[in-house]
Amino acid sequence: MKTAVEVLEAFGNIRRAQHAGVYAPHKPLLILLALGRVQRNESRMVEFSAVDDPLKQMLAEFGPSNSAKSRHYPFWHLATDGHGSIWNLSGPREILSRSAGATPSLGELREHHIAAGFPADVDEALRSIPGLVQAVATQVLETYFPATLQGDIATAAGLDLERETEVGEAVSPTVGYGNSKRRRRDPDFRDRVLRAYEYRCCVCGFDLRIGHMPAGLEAAHIQWHHVGGPDIEPNGLSLCALHHKLFDLGVFTVEPAEHRIIFSQHAISGGRGMEGELQFHGNPIHAPQHSDLRPAAEFLAWNTKNVFKTPARQVMSVGSKRPGLR
Ligand SMILES: [Zn+2]
Repeated sequence: MKTAVEVLEAFGNIRRAQHAGVYAPHKPLLILLALGRVQRNESRMVEFSAVDDPLKQMLAEFGPSNSAKSRHYPFWHLATDGHGSIWNLSGPREILSRSAGATPSLGELREHHIAAGFPADVDEALRSIPGLVQAVATQVLETYFPATLQGDIATAAGLDLERETEVGEAVSPTVGYGNSKRRRRDPDFRDRVLRAYEYRCCVCGFDLRIGHMPAGLEAAHIQWHHVGGPDIEPNGLSLCALHHKLFDLGVFTVEPAEHRIIFSQHAISGGRGMEGELQFHGNPIHAPQHSDLRPAAEFLAWNTKNVFKTPARQVMSVGSKRPGLR
Protein backbone atom coordinates (compact mmCIF):
# COMPACT_ATOMS: atom_id res chain seq x y z
CA MET A 1 0.00 0.00 0.00
CA LYS A 2 1.23 3.49 -0.77
CA THR A 3 1.65 6.15 1.88
CA ALA A 4 -0.43 9.34 1.91
CA VAL A 5 2.58 11.36 0.76
CA GLU A 6 3.27 8.98 -2.14
CA VAL A 7 -0.36 9.13 -3.27
CA LEU A 8 -0.46 12.94 -3.12
CA GLU A 9 2.80 13.15 -5.05
CA ALA A 10 1.54 10.76 -7.73
CA PHE A 11 -1.58 12.87 -8.32
CA GLY A 12 0.52 16.04 -8.29
CA ASN A 13 2.31 14.88 -11.44
CA ILE A 14 -0.53 14.43 -13.91
CA ARG A 15 0.67 15.34 -17.37
CA ARG A 16 -1.19 18.20 -18.94
CA ALA A 17 -2.36 18.27 -22.55
CA GLN A 18 0.58 18.62 -24.90
CA HIS A 19 0.08 21.78 -26.93
CA ALA A 20 0.73 25.12 -25.29
CA GLY A 21 -2.16 27.36 -24.40
CA VAL A 22 -4.71 24.53 -24.43
CA TYR A 23 -6.54 23.98 -21.20
CA ALA A 24 -7.85 20.43 -20.83
CA PRO A 25 -9.73 19.59 -17.63
CA HIS A 26 -10.50 16.03 -18.76
CA LYS A 27 -8.01 14.17 -16.58
CA PRO A 28 -8.72 16.07 -13.36
CA LEU A 29 -12.48 15.68 -13.81
CA LEU A 30 -12.13 11.92 -14.36
CA ILE A 31 -9.91 11.62 -11.27
CA LEU A 32 -12.48 13.53 -9.20
CA LEU A 33 -15.27 11.25 -10.43
CA ALA A 34 -13.17 8.20 -9.50
CA LEU A 35 -12.41 9.68 -6.06
CA GLY A 36 -16.16 10.13 -5.55
CA ARG A 37 -16.60 6.41 -6.30
CA VAL A 38 -13.97 5.48 -3.72
CA GLN A 39 -15.62 7.71 -1.14
CA ARG A 40 -18.97 5.99 -1.76
CA ASN A 41 -17.26 2.60 -1.42
CA GLU A 42 -17.98 1.58 -5.01
CA SER A 43 -15.83 -0.94 -6.90
CA ARG A 44 -12.23 -0.06 -7.79
CA MET A 45 -12.59 -0.77 -11.52
CA VAL A 46 -15.44 0.81 -13.46
CA GLU A 47 -16.52 0.32 -17.05
CA PHE A 48 -16.34 3.34 -19.32
CA SER A 49 -20.09 3.23 -19.96
CA ALA A 50 -20.74 3.81 -16.23
CA VAL A 51 -18.78 7.09 -16.11
CA ASP A 52 -19.61 8.27 -19.63
CA ASP A 53 -22.71 10.30 -18.73
CA PRO A 54 -21.35 12.05 -15.63
CA LEU A 55 -18.08 12.86 -17.42
CA LYS A 56 -19.98 14.26 -20.38
CA GLN A 57 -22.11 16.48 -18.13
CA MET A 58 -19.13 17.73 -16.13
CA LEU A 59 -17.14 18.59 -19.27
CA ALA A 60 -20.14 20.37 -20.77
CA GLU A 61 -20.56 22.48 -17.64
CA PHE A 62 -16.99 23.06 -16.49
CA GLY A 63 -14.87 22.45 -19.60
CA PRO A 64 -14.20 24.49 -22.72
CA SER A 65 -16.64 24.28 -25.65
CA ASN A 66 -16.88 20.87 -27.26
CA SER A 67 -14.57 19.25 -24.72
CA ALA A 68 -17.19 16.57 -23.99
CA LYS A 69 -16.49 15.08 -27.42
CA SER A 70 -13.08 13.90 -26.28
CA ARG A 71 -14.28 12.64 -22.90
CA HIS A 72 -12.91 9.12 -23.55
CA TYR A 73 -9.31 10.38 -23.89
CA PRO A 74 -8.45 10.59 -20.20
CA PHE A 75 -9.96 7.16 -19.52
CA TRP A 76 -7.32 5.75 -21.88
CA HIS A 77 -4.39 8.16 -21.57
CA LEU A 78 -4.33 8.53 -17.79
CA ALA A 79 -2.96 4.97 -17.70
CA THR A 80 0.38 6.14 -19.11
CA ASP A 81 0.82 8.98 -16.59
CA GLY A 82 3.57 8.11 -14.10
CA HIS A 83 4.02 4.75 -15.87
CA GLY A 84 0.68 3.47 -14.67
CA SER A 85 1.10 4.62 -11.08
CA ILE A 86 -2.29 6.35 -10.88
CA TRP A 87 -4.59 4.58 -13.37
CA ASN A 88 -5.00 1.01 -14.61
CA LEU A 89 -7.01 -0.35 -17.53
CA SER A 90 -8.58 -3.76 -17.97
CA GLY A 91 -10.18 -5.38 -20.99
CA PRO A 92 -9.40 -7.61 -23.97
CA ARG A 93 -5.71 -7.92 -24.71
CA GLU A 94 -6.05 -6.89 -28.37
CA ILE A 95 -7.36 -3.49 -27.27
CA LEU A 96 -5.01 -2.95 -24.33
CA SER A 97 -1.93 -3.87 -26.37
CA ARG A 98 -2.48 -0.93 -28.70
CA SER A 99 0.08 1.82 -28.61
CA ALA A 100 -0.73 4.61 -26.18
CA GLY A 101 -1.46 7.01 -29.03
CA ALA A 102 -4.08 4.75 -30.64
CA THR A 103 -7.01 5.83 -28.48
CA PRO A 104 -10.03 3.50 -28.86
CA SER A 105 -13.24 5.22 -29.93
CA LEU A 106 -16.16 5.82 -27.56
CA GLY A 107 -17.91 2.85 -29.20
CA GLU A 108 -14.91 0.54 -28.77
CA LEU A 109 -14.57 1.39 -25.09
CA ARG A 110 -18.24 0.53 -24.52
CA GLU A 111 -18.40 -2.51 -26.79
CA HIS A 112 -15.30 -4.20 -25.33
CA HIS A 113 -16.31 -3.33 -21.74
CA ILE A 114 -13.02 -1.56 -21.09
CA ALA A 115 -12.77 -0.79 -17.38
CA ALA A 116 -10.39 1.41 -15.43
CA GLY A 117 -9.60 2.55 -11.93
CA PHE A 118 -6.85 3.50 -9.51
CA PRO A 119 -4.09 0.86 -9.07
CA ALA A 120 -4.73 -1.48 -6.13
CA ASP A 121 -2.02 0.06 -3.91
CA VAL A 122 -3.39 3.58 -4.47
CA ASP A 123 -7.00 2.44 -4.06
CA GLU A 124 -6.20 0.70 -0.77
CA ALA A 125 -4.47 3.81 0.59
CA LEU A 126 -7.40 6.04 -0.45
CA ARG A 127 -9.88 3.73 1.29
CA SER A 128 -7.93 3.16 4.47
CA ILE A 129 -6.16 6.45 5.29
CA PRO A 130 -8.73 8.84 6.77
CA GLY A 131 -8.93 12.14 4.92
CA LEU A 132 -6.73 11.09 2.00
CA VAL A 133 -9.56 11.18 -0.56
CA GLN A 134 -10.38 14.75 0.47
CA ALA A 135 -6.71 15.76 0.43
CA VAL A 136 -6.18 14.42 -3.10
CA ALA A 137 -9.47 15.93 -4.31
CA THR A 138 -8.58 19.32 -2.82
CA GLN A 139 -5.13 19.19 -4.41
CA VAL A 140 -6.63 18.38 -7.84
CA LEU A 141 -9.36 21.05 -7.52
CA GLU A 142 -6.91 23.75 -6.46
CA THR A 143 -4.43 22.85 -9.20
CA TYR A 144 -6.91 22.95 -12.06
CA PHE A 145 -9.95 25.05 -11.21
CA PRO A 146 -10.71 28.55 -9.91
CA ALA A 147 -12.11 28.89 -6.40
CA THR A 148 -15.52 29.93 -7.75
CA LEU A 149 -16.03 26.48 -9.31
CA GLN A 150 -14.29 24.10 -6.88
CA GLY A 151 -17.35 23.45 -4.68
CA ASP A 152 -19.68 22.88 -7.63
CA ILE A 153 -17.24 20.51 -9.30
CA ALA A 154 -16.80 18.49 -6.10
CA THR A 155 -20.58 18.22 -5.81
CA ALA A 156 -20.91 17.15 -9.45
CA ALA A 157 -18.30 14.43 -8.83
CA GLY A 158 -20.29 13.24 -5.82
CA LEU A 159 -17.47 14.17 -3.43
CA ASP A 160 -17.98 15.20 0.16
CA LEU A 161 -15.05 17.42 1.13
CA GLU A 162 -16.44 18.27 4.54
CA ARG A 163 -15.48 14.98 6.14
CA GLU A 164 -12.41 14.67 8.37
CA THR A 165 -9.26 16.00 6.69
CA GLU A 166 -6.45 15.43 9.20
CA VAL A 167 -4.25 13.78 6.57
CA GLY A 168 -4.55 16.72 4.22
CA GLU A 169 -3.61 19.09 7.01
CA ALA A 170 -0.79 16.85 8.22
CA VAL A 171 0.91 16.49 4.84
CA SER A 172 0.08 19.83 3.27
CA PRO A 173 3.23 21.68 4.37
CA THR A 174 5.40 19.40 2.22
CA VAL A 175 3.19 18.18 -0.62
CA GLY A 176 -0.09 19.06 -2.18
CA TYR A 177 -1.06 22.52 -1.12
CA GLY A 178 2.56 23.49 -0.57
CA ASN A 179 3.57 22.03 -3.91
CA SER A 180 6.26 24.14 -5.52
CA LYS A 181 4.35 24.02 -8.82
CA ARG A 182 1.56 26.15 -7.37
CA ARG A 183 2.33 29.82 -7.65
CA ARG A 184 1.58 32.12 -4.80
CA ARG A 185 -1.20 34.56 -5.38
CA ASP A 186 -0.37 38.21 -4.96
CA PRO A 187 -2.49 39.37 -2.01
CA ASP A 188 -2.72 42.87 -3.52
CA PHE A 189 -4.28 41.66 -6.76
CA ARG A 190 -7.86 42.02 -5.54
CA ASP A 191 -7.29 45.53 -4.18
CA ARG A 192 -5.53 46.73 -7.33
CA VAL A 193 -8.17 45.33 -9.68
CA LEU A 194 -11.11 46.64 -7.63
CA ARG A 195 -9.50 50.08 -7.44
CA ALA A 196 -8.86 50.07 -11.20
CA TYR A 197 -12.60 49.63 -11.73
CA GLU A 198 -13.51 52.05 -8.93
CA TYR A 199 -14.98 49.33 -6.76
CA ARG A 200 -17.83 48.23 -8.97
CA CYS A 201 -18.72 45.25 -11.13
CA CYS A 202 -17.57 46.08 -14.66
CA VAL A 203 -20.59 44.22 -16.07
CA CYS A 204 -23.57 45.36 -13.99
CA GLY A 205 -22.16 48.24 -11.94
CA PHE A 206 -22.88 46.51 -8.60
CA ASP A 207 -21.04 48.49 -5.91
CA LEU A 208 -22.46 47.64 -2.50
CA ARG A 209 -20.33 48.39 0.55
CA ILE A 210 -20.57 47.38 4.16
CA GLY A 211 -19.34 50.57 5.78
CA HIS A 212 -16.18 51.29 3.80
CA MET A 213 -15.62 47.70 2.67
CA PRO A 214 -16.76 46.52 -0.75
CA ALA A 215 -19.11 43.56 -0.33
CA GLY A 216 -19.70 40.76 -2.84
CA LEU A 217 -17.12 42.22 -5.19
CA GLU A 218 -14.25 40.07 -6.46
CA ALA A 219 -11.18 40.30 -8.72
CA ALA A 220 -11.45 37.70 -11.48
CA HIS A 221 -8.44 36.43 -13.41
CA ILE A 222 -9.15 36.58 -17.17
CA GLN A 223 -6.51 33.90 -17.79
CA TRP A 224 -6.83 31.67 -14.76
CA HIS A 225 -4.08 32.06 -12.20
CA HIS A 226 -3.28 28.36 -11.86
CA VAL A 227 -2.70 28.04 -15.62
CA GLY A 228 -0.21 30.87 -15.77
CA GLY A 229 -2.39 34.00 -15.66
CA PRO A 230 -0.41 36.80 -13.98
CA ASP A 231 -1.63 38.92 -11.04
CA ILE A 232 -1.70 42.18 -13.01
CA GLU A 233 -4.57 44.56 -13.73
CA PRO A 234 -4.70 43.81 -17.51
CA ASN A 235 -5.46 40.19 -16.52
CA GLY A 236 -8.15 41.19 -14.03
CA LEU A 237 -11.79 42.19 -14.04
CA SER A 238 -13.70 43.60 -11.10
CA LEU A 239 -16.87 41.51 -10.93
CA CYS A 240 -19.72 40.95 -8.48
CA ALA A 241 -19.89 37.40 -7.10
CA LEU A 242 -22.55 36.39 -9.64
CA HIS A 243 -20.72 37.76 -12.67
CA HIS A 244 -17.43 36.25 -11.46
CA LYS A 245 -19.05 32.84 -11.36
CA LEU A 246 -20.74 33.26 -14.76
CA PHE A 247 -17.43 34.46 -16.23
CA ASP A 248 -15.54 31.41 -14.90
CA LEU A 249 -18.30 29.14 -16.25
CA GLY A 250 -17.79 30.65 -19.71
CA VAL A 251 -21.30 32.14 -19.87
CA PHE A 252 -19.87 35.42 -21.15
CA THR A 253 -16.52 36.83 -22.16
CA VAL A 254 -15.17 40.23 -23.18
CA GLU A 255 -14.13 40.83 -26.78
CA PRO A 256 -10.75 42.53 -27.20
CA ALA A 257 -11.52 45.35 -29.66
CA GLU A 258 -14.15 47.40 -27.82
CA HIS A 259 -14.30 45.39 -24.60
CA ARG A 260 -17.89 44.46 -25.15
CA ILE A 261 -19.58 41.81 -23.06
CA ILE A 262 -20.43 38.81 -25.23
CA PHE A 263 -22.77 36.11 -24.00
CA SER A 264 -22.73 32.49 -25.16
CA GLN A 265 -25.51 31.06 -27.28
CA HIS A 266 -25.71 28.38 -24.58
CA ALA A 267 -26.77 31.00 -22.03
CA ILE A 268 -30.57 31.05 -21.92
CA SER A 269 -32.20 33.44 -19.52
CA GLY A 270 -35.66 31.86 -19.28
CA GLY A 271 -38.62 34.18 -19.00
CA ARG A 272 -36.55 37.18 -17.98
CA GLY A 273 -34.73 37.18 -21.32
CA MET A 274 -33.32 40.53 -22.29
CA GLU A 275 -34.64 42.15 -19.12
CA GLY A 276 -32.60 39.68 -17.12
CA GLU A 277 -28.95 38.75 -17.40
CA LEU A 278 -28.85 39.14 -21.18
CA GLN A 279 -29.47 42.89 -20.96
CA PHE A 280 -25.69 43.24 -20.63
CA HIS A 281 -24.97 41.41 -23.90
CA GLY A 282 -23.16 43.69 -26.37
CA ASN A 283 -22.54 46.44 -23.80
CA PRO A 284 -19.00 47.64 -23.25
CA ILE A 285 -17.66 46.89 -19.76
CA HIS A 286 -17.45 49.80 -17.34
CA ALA A 287 -13.92 50.84 -18.28
CA PRO A 288 -11.12 51.01 -15.72
CA GLN A 289 -10.01 54.46 -14.67
CA HIS A 290 -6.78 54.40 -16.74
CA SER A 291 -6.19 52.93 -20.20
CA ASP A 292 -3.08 51.05 -18.94
CA LEU A 293 -5.39 48.99 -16.73
CA ARG A 294 -7.65 47.77 -19.52
CA PRO A 295 -7.93 44.02 -20.15
CA ALA A 296 -5.15 42.83 -22.47
CA ALA A 297 -6.00 41.09 -25.74
CA GLU A 298 -3.77 38.07 -25.05
CA PHE A 299 -5.59 37.21 -21.81
CA LEU A 300 -9.02 37.80 -23.35
CA ALA A 301 -8.01 35.48 -26.22
CA TRP A 302 -7.03 32.78 -23.71
CA ASN A 303 -10.38 33.13 -21.96
CA THR A 304 -12.36 33.01 -25.19
CA LYS A 305 -10.52 29.90 -26.34
CA ASN A 306 -10.38 27.96 -23.09
CA VAL A 307 -13.32 29.02 -20.92
CA PHE A 308 -15.98 30.75 -23.01
CA LYS A 309 -18.74 28.43 -24.23
CA THR A 310 -18.77 29.11 -27.99
CA PRO A 311 -20.57 30.00 -30.15
CA ALA A 312 -21.14 33.61 -29.17
CA ARG A 313 -24.51 35.33 -29.44
CA GLN A 314 -24.74 37.80 -32.26
CA VAL A 315 -23.80 41.39 -31.55
CA MET A 316 -25.71 44.10 -33.35
CA SER A 317 -23.08 46.65 -34.20
CA VAL A 318 -24.21 50.23 -34.45
CA GLY A 319 -22.39 52.22 -37.13
CA SER A 320 -19.66 49.60 -37.29
CA LYS A 321 -18.97 46.69 -39.56
CA ARG A 322 -16.92 44.93 -36.95
CA PRO A 323 -18.38 41.51 -36.36
CA GLY A 324 -18.77 40.03 -32.89
CA LEU A 325 -16.79 37.01 -31.81
CA ARG A 326 -17.07 33.95 -33.94
ZN1 LIG B 1 -22.20 42.12 -11.72
